Amino acid sequence: MQIQLETPKQIIEALRNSKKSEDTKSIVQYVSKEYFSDELLSGSLSMNLNEESQDVKTLQTILVGLSFLKNNDMTGKLDQVTMNGLKSFAQTFGVSVDVNQPVGKSIIDLFTTYKIQTDVSKTIKYNPSNLPKEAYEDKYNWPPKPDQLTYLSQSEAQKIYGPIEYKPKGSGDSIIITNNFERDNIITITIPQLAKIQHPRSTQQRCHKLAARQIIGLWQEWENLGLLSRIITFNGLYNPRFIRGSKTTLSNHAFGVAFDINTKYNGLYQTPPAVGEKGSLRELVPSALKWGFFWGGHYKNRKDGMHFELKNPQAAQYIV
Ligand SMILES: [Zn+2]
Repeated sequence: MQIQLETPKQIIEALRNSKKSEDTKSIVQYVSKEYFSDELLSGSLSMNLNEESQDVKTLQTILVGLSFLKNNDMTGKLDQVTMNGLKSFAQTFGVSVDVNQPVGKSIIDLFTTYKIQTDVSKTIKYNPSNLPKEAYEDKYNWPPKPDQLTYLSQSEAQKIYGPIEYKPKGSGDSIIITNNFERDNIITITIPQLAKIQHPRSTQQRCHKLAARQIIGLWQEWENLGLLSRIITFNGLYNPRFIRGSKTTLSNHAFGVAFDINTKYNGLYQTPPAVGEKGSLRELVPSALKWGFFWGGHYKNRKDGMHFELKNPQAAQYIV
């Protein structure tokens, strides 16, 4: 299948979707084969110094993603700076590139046949924060808000996951549930990935029985994509309480269908940090949407970047 590389965003997608996201060699090979032109790959076309082409952009995007070029070196032109980045890349892997000669197939050979040493591979990692700004659709709106998947309203939550009957507990946000909601719906699940995050918390968590498979599946997918490093803290799931600052609206945590992560960096009403900034969760969002979770960072007026809630327990097409 030939996919046309139009924008750096598509490269990011390719990198993100790569099954071996932790493996730089595989990613680079994958991107190279998918995205450099057939002419370049076959050797019938060369890249020449000062040339401007899509292949040059592809090369630069890869080098930026691997930290051998800076964002503002993304010129689309095979200039000396790019050649120096390529040379550094080659030297890292012990491959020589004659920067005075036309390059082309030699670049592809470099990306597709170099021998990677285990110890070297650890020093060079795909880092999305190095990718150029234009790679993000919009610094603060990326990832795009889905049209179909909206937040879970109170009446929907009561209808799908409830009912919860309750009374306020004390003067804070807490409630006391007065019907059998908890007994009938809340179960304990294991999320093994919680042991692998920077500040681990118990892998045993309580959630709504209708949310269990999707929560487990989502966390597994995050791990598969190599994204657990983005999660610094897990800040809770089931919690019988109102939404912050309310005495009438139940939190979706009370239904056991929402969880919070990286609270410190994703405060209520704050603009969630952009990709590459500390605590950013934006790279986790596409998978969450796929599994039927709405992201709190997509709230229009009450941004809640720490918050993921299961809107659709019937997103069965994603449950295997
Ligand atoms: Zn929350």
